[in-house]
Amino acid sequence: MNAIVPLLLKALAFAADRHRTQRRKGADAAPYINHPIDVANLLCNEGGVTDPIVLAAALLHDTIEDTGATREELEPLFGSDMARIVAEVSDDKSLPKAERKRLQIEHAAHVSREAKLVKLADKISNLRETASNPPVDWSLERRREYFDWAKAVVDRLRGTHEGLERIFDETYRKGTDKRL
Ligand code: ZN
Repeated sequence: MNAIVPLLLKALAFAADRHRTQRRKGADAAPYINHPIDVANLLCNEGGVTDPIVLAAALLHDTIEDTGATREELEPLFGSDMARIVAEVSDDKSLPKAERKRLQIEHAAHVSREAKLVKLADKISNLRETASNPPVDWSLERRREYFDWAKAVVDRLRGTHEGLERIFDETYRKGTDKRL
């Protein structure tokens, strides 16, 4: 069997367990795990990214930020590279939200290429979800602000993956065209 498969299934099982009680913010309140699966799938099947570390990190990318998992916990299970990438794409939840959002823009240029790929796919996934299934309490203005903030983050990591950046731009353009 391809050596990638056990790693991906282990990451998927870990993420599914950690996110098991969580739901997405969209009106349909989809299971949270749909989102990391979407990010990994998008990287692989739309971006052609086949690096198993990046794909597994995509599955795990919200476990530190949103489920209380730690870098120290991920390390023995998935190795230090993977733990580092997940830590790189995680906000520090002890900071106020506005500061976290500002820091994401600031840090985007300085993280590893693997972390930039995960971030790029994460932003595409979130924009698509915000356009198709926005949180019920979000005004058009709030959606618009979210799109613009995501673009500010992506603008700082350009030159990482041409194809995914094009997909991001297309998603941004469509979302800000008429609907927003
Ligand atoms: Zn995410």
